[in-house]
Amino acid sequence: MNNLEIRKIPQTEQILSNPRITIWYNRISRQLTSAAVHSAIEHSRSLILDGGSFDEDALYMNIEKLCARLYNRRIRPLINASGVILHTNMGRSPIEKEVWNSCEAVNTGYSSLELSLKTGKRGKRNGLVPFFLNTLTGAESSAVVNNNAAAVYLMLSTFAAGKQVIVSRGEQVQIGGGFRIPEILRLSGAELVEVGTTNITTLDDYLDAITENTALILKVHRSNFAVRGFTSEPTVRELSEIIPDHVLIAVDQGSGVLNENIAGEDKVKSLLGDGADIVTFSGDKILGGPQAGILAGKTELIKAVDQNPLIRTMRPGKTIYSLLETSLLLRLNSPNAWSRHAEFIDSGDVVKDKCKKLKRGLSTEKYKLISDRICLGGGSTPDQFFESWSIEIVSEKMKPQAIIDELRNAEIPIIGKINGDSAVLNPAVFTDDDQKYVKSVLKALEEKL
Ligand SMILES: *Cc1c(COP(=O)(O)O)cnc(C)c1O
Repeated sequence: MNNLEIRKIPQTEQILSNPRITIWYNRISRQLTSAAVHSAIEHSRSLILDGGSFDEDALYMNIEKLCARLYNRRIRPLINASGVILHTNMGRSPIEKEVWNSCEAVNTGYSSLELSLKTGKRGKRNGLVPFFLNTLTGAESSAVVNNNAAAVYLMLSTFAAGKQVIVSRGEQVQIGGGFRIPEILRLSGAELVEVGTTNITTLDDYLDAITENTALILKVHRSNFAVRGFTSEPTVRELSEIIPDHVLIAVDQGSGVLNENIAGEDKVKSLLGDGADIVTFSGDKILGGPQAGILAGKTELIKAVDQNPLIRTMRPGKTIYSLLETSLLLRLNSPNAWSRHAEFIDSGDVVKDKCKKLKRGLSTEKYKLISDRICLGGGSTPDQFFESWSIEIVSEKMKPQAIIDELRNAEIPIIGKINGDSAVLNPAVFTDDDQKYVKSVLKALEEKL
């Protein structure tokens, strides 16, 4: 055994006070940094026991590698260059800075979350959220839970437990990570009655399936796929005109398009206006707020939802309520700037400009302006693509996937995409700071390409 070499390994405490290592404390904690140091020391030791000599630089590099690996598992800010505006893997909708900042005091101090300032007694938890939601959607009443999956489950459990729910075979969808309509239905205690076929469901299909024990017809937004060609289904209006009174029409609208015109999206306001009794949707898709599940509909139905004890298990806290309240206020006060997401899809020329600015001063051979298509994502407009512009990264030395990996491993990760056979960055959602940062990374990347 090589005692001399082993003795060259510095003391743990000495390594842990090296500035090269202390910078990790803020990122992953002193404890996890220390664990990385121990594990790297163990590795050095075993190399020496195998006859190697001590390599201080290798030891530090190992520690850094282990720390970086842990740091990558944190929830970190990144730059979305994927051309998918609401990316489920990247936190869906960013919250407006203005909204975030104005919620600081309520979140970092005490607040009137559940205190009536009129009486000094316990109050309701929802502030002006229902008023704002009702104004924006035309609903009589509304309620909020932690996410839309919970909203659908709560709605079914309130109105359909032990009863039948009719769903078209074309709408028995799975959304994202395992949210399957038939499963949620079963869990809520409802009995699924399937009608129609994948592409065609008629008014009569629904009518024929209705019994005394039918609680509701559930219409589900096809958030992540499209049915094209020979297809047909009745509208909410057609259904509402002929179904018997004891059957509710519920719509899982998903995206949170309230009253804006986005191709391929049914607006919450239109659905309610057309006769839907209750509509559920997400807070952090096109609505652009924090993650939340919103139920909007008839007063007596929302009241029943509110009185279901289950709602207590999915109740948002002050962070969600304050952010949602402020997002909705912003929306009401700036009806033209209703959503940055719509701006991005309408702004082909602006994006072209961003690409040109990004390219300025960089190699014109390695970075090329290309026309591209982007999509909204996040369970909305599954079949709609919007014209946009992107930067294609051309390289003789690096494969497209290697370029994408390299950018993802930048100090602030940049998430690009592969179009056919090339690595592509779409700057549609870049902020000014993103632009500057991406430019610096691309400049540094140039010589490797
Ligand atoms: C996104 C989506 C859901 C799930 O919403 P979460 O807020 O992620 O829980 C459910 N139904 C539809 C139609 C959706 O688009």
